[in-house]
Amino acid sequence: MIPVTRFSRAWIAVATVCVAALLSFGLTPPAVAAPSWPVISNGSSGPDVASAQFLLRSHGHDIAADGQFGPATEGATRSFQQSRGYGVDGIIGAETWPGLIVTVRQGDSGDAVAAAQTALNKHGYGLAVDGQFGPATASAATAFQSAKGLAVDGIIGPQTWQNLLGQGGGGGGSYSLPIPRGTLSRGYYNAPHHTYPALDLPVGTGTPVYAVHSGVATRVSNDRCGLGYSLAGDDGATYFYCHLSAYGVGSGARVNAGAHLGSSGNTGNSTGPHLHLEVIAGGAQRCPQPAMLAIYDGVSPPSPGSLPTSGCVG
Ligand SMILES: [Zn+2]
Repeated sequence: MIPVTRFSRAWIAVATVCVAALLSFGLTPPAVAAPSWPVISNGSSGPDVASAQFLLRSHGHDIAADGQFGPATEGATRSFQQSRGYGVDGIIGAETWPGLIVTVRQGDSGDAVAAAQTALNKHGYGLAVDGQFGPATASAATAFQSAKGLAVDGIIGPQTWQNLLGQGGGGGGSYSLPIPRGTLSRGYYNAPHHTYPALDLPVGTGTPVYAVHSGVATRVSNDRCGLGYSLAGDDGATYFYCHLSAYGVGSGARVNAGAHLGSSGNTGNSTGPHLHLEVIAGGAQRCPQPAMLAIYDGVSPPSPGSLPTSGCVG
């Protein structure tokens, strides 16, 4: 008689070899079309603006990198465009970005590195924006390249820049985690919520809170939610954020995925610092968990309307 366990072990050994073969030979990164460069101009805000400001600084324009595209940034943009012989319109788009970006790699330092760190953080990597391209930035760069199917060399050159800037953040294209990636491990994004579909992320007061998707953010303030945002996403979902300690954008602001909405906290009906997140789509409160796990894993999340309305309460 053949013991079942021996058969199982043999089968597992075969399966392991097959998986190893798949990993070695089967997962060639697909060729990916580069996303469009973002178009930013006076009035724009968010991480792409901050990256552009750092890049303008690296080209010698002494402006603040505050993520707000105002008159000083517009002036620096016009002067940069003039110096390169581009059309002088003060708008940073498909013509200006390729001249503005600077290839950076481990060991580099300065404003161009800070620009790259800002762009990586839009995708949830949670780096210190210190302008020092060290091992943490290199590991974020290779993780991003790998997630996007790009050549994985840890060097932020034109193709990586275009993917960093042209996509919203987080993974899966235009989605971002609601907090910096390094803050919590994957399992927290799958935690059940008390009594109704939502997600509580236990992060300390002052943690940056990001827009999950592009849309229009409206400030919320009431006894239950405390300080929060209702983000009317371009994907048709409403993302509801609660218990913040500070607002980061004005009511009615148009934001990109990964935009810094504010800071987490403990305001409203809350028993300790955390970010409370709801997803409302098709008139129903949905479980954010499958979407957050997909974003964490760098794959496209399910459409909001297909998220379950039960199974995440416990
Ligand atoms: Zn909650």
